Amino acid sequence: MVLPVDNPTKSYWIEAAKSSLRNFRSTVELPKETDVVIVGSGYTGATTAYWLHRFTERNHRQPCMLMLEARDICGGATGRNGGQLRPHAYSRYPKWSERFGPDGALEVIKHEMAHLSAFKELLNEEGIAEEACLKLGETFDAAMSEKAWTRLKHAYEIMLKDHGKEGDVIRDCRIIEDPQAAKSFTQMKGCIGAVVHAAGQVWPYKFVHALLRIVMEKARLNLQANTAVVAVSERDDNGWITVKTPRGDVRTRTVVHATNRWASHLLPEFGNLIFGGRGTLASIKALEGFIKHTGAQHWDHVVNNYHIQLPPPYNAIIVGGGKSLLVHDPHSYILNDSEDQQFVGIPEFYQSWPAADIIDWPGEIPTKLNRCVNEGGCWSGVMSSSIDEFPFIGAVPNNDGHFLAAGFTGHGMPRILLSTASIAPLILDSTGMKFTQPALVATYPPLPKPFKLTMRRLKQLQQVDAKAKYEAAVENDLESAKEAFCNDLRSRPKSS
Ligand SMILES: Cc1cc2nc3c(=O)[nH]c(=O)nc-3n(C[C@H](O)[C@H](O)[C@H](O)COP(=O)(O)OP(=O)(O)OC[C@H]3O[C@@H](n4cnc5c(N)ncnc54)[C@H](O)[C@@H]3O)c2cc1C
Repeated sequence: MVLPVDNPTKSYWIEAAKSSLRNFRSTVELPKETDVVIVGSGYTGATTAYWLHRFTERNHRQPCMLMLEARDICGGATGRNGGQLRPHAYSRYPKWSERFGPDGALEVIKHEMAHLSAFKELLNEEGIAEEACLKLGETFDAAMSEKAWTRLKHAYEIMLKDHGKEGDVIRDCRIIEDPQAAKSFTQMKGCIGAVVHAAGQVWPYKFVHALLRIVMEKARLNLQANTAVVAVSERDDNGWITVKTPRGDVRTRTVVHATNRWASHLLPEFGNLIFGGRGTLASIKALEGFIKHTGAQHWDHVVNNYHIQLPPPYNAIIVGGGKSLLVHDPHSYILNDSEDQQFVGIPEFYQSWPAADIIDWPGEIPTKLNRCVNEGGCWSGVMSSSIDEFPFIGAVPNNDGHFLAAGFTGHGMPRILLSTASIAPLILDSTGMKFTQPALVATYPPLPKPFKLTMRRLKQLQQVDAKAKYEAAVENDLESAKEAFCNDLRSRPKSS
């Protein structure tokens, strides 16, 4: 059982956004009664509230919603991530097609890719695309070693073989085999080949705050920062669920658990299913428009960096990964929740990254962070790790009135928006409310099967030896730590 720490490191996204909703409370006291309690105010909680509004905007009465957040509004993974709206367009295809067959794999990929147009449509319709710094374009996977190139190329080719160039997803992917052309596209020194596909980037915290503002203006949402939910009851015979907080109890018809890594605190049956893992990012100063595309560098299947550049006036490069340094101490991130601490040596690693890896980097060496290290220059964040690597979306089995959308495994941006759209009707059904599907949702793919929360999946996964799985991951990462690319000057741990 674990709740979010209350003094996390400061993230650039949160500090630079200066949002008036940061510690917002709609009312001094909590309401005594409501239709829906949403626990968690990240991307999942905010889009759930948004869809509940959109599905009922034609109703005579919309649902009363109460959102309870343990710390600042959107202070979890969504306020601390990489900002990459980057579907797994092809790279997971071999693994997924082995598990679910070629069509099953494509179902997941199509759902992820559909997020690009869904973001565009929604943010334009609400007039918040510029505010949330939404940018769509191309992204790349840069192979930094032969090993990485073999893996990336294989994934692309096997998908091409199964679905042909005319397949609507593979059409958005292309491969750059010529090393010079790959270097020129990716701007990455040492890149030997690249796969390019459609993707986007966004300021996730601003996106969430804008959505919450809209729902509060147009619908019935009571938002409460710094209010942890410590327990939830089952539905009683009168149809009420009691939600307990240090500020008092609330009774509600329905609870949506949008609690990501922390889901098992209120739903202990997920204790063997959703775990924490720590990541890190930095914000560094860059010239306007210097980085042309979002992207990731890969040395093997563990060691990577990824980055985006924000538009003016921010111009910041947000860079994450740092795995060539981190793999020397896998326990510092695997099953680790200490987002109140910086990784040892990581600010220096990020400061040396542009000059070491970007072609013709014109900035200072070492590069300046946008803010002081502990004031938003560099930060940690906890992502959820699902035991089967897929999120859990749906009604909680044997727990009437409880819904879950969590376990996005460090990859929620191209998954959450349409996942929460798919559970909004179930939630409304459970409160007995009528709803109409908004046109915005109608054309998008349904929830992929691997995401569905079923009793069968729950039972099967509860039998998995999670300890063995994560111990194997530690061993695996220590193998990577022996590679030359993890033992250059900037990656070698200070103690060695
Ligand atoms: C370092 C890092 C980098 C990442 N980079 C990317 C990326 O580039 N692209 C991508 O697709 N994904 C990325 N992710 C993953 C992505 O950020 C998440 O999948 C997504 O933000 C999850 O949204 P969420 O709303 O489910 O969770 P969160 O944003 O974590 O929100 C859950 C909220 O619930 C609150 N909460 C939990 N328990 C309680 C409780 N009991 N009572 C009240 N409140 C509670 C938490 O405080 C938190 O605010 C990254 C994650 C991290 C940590």
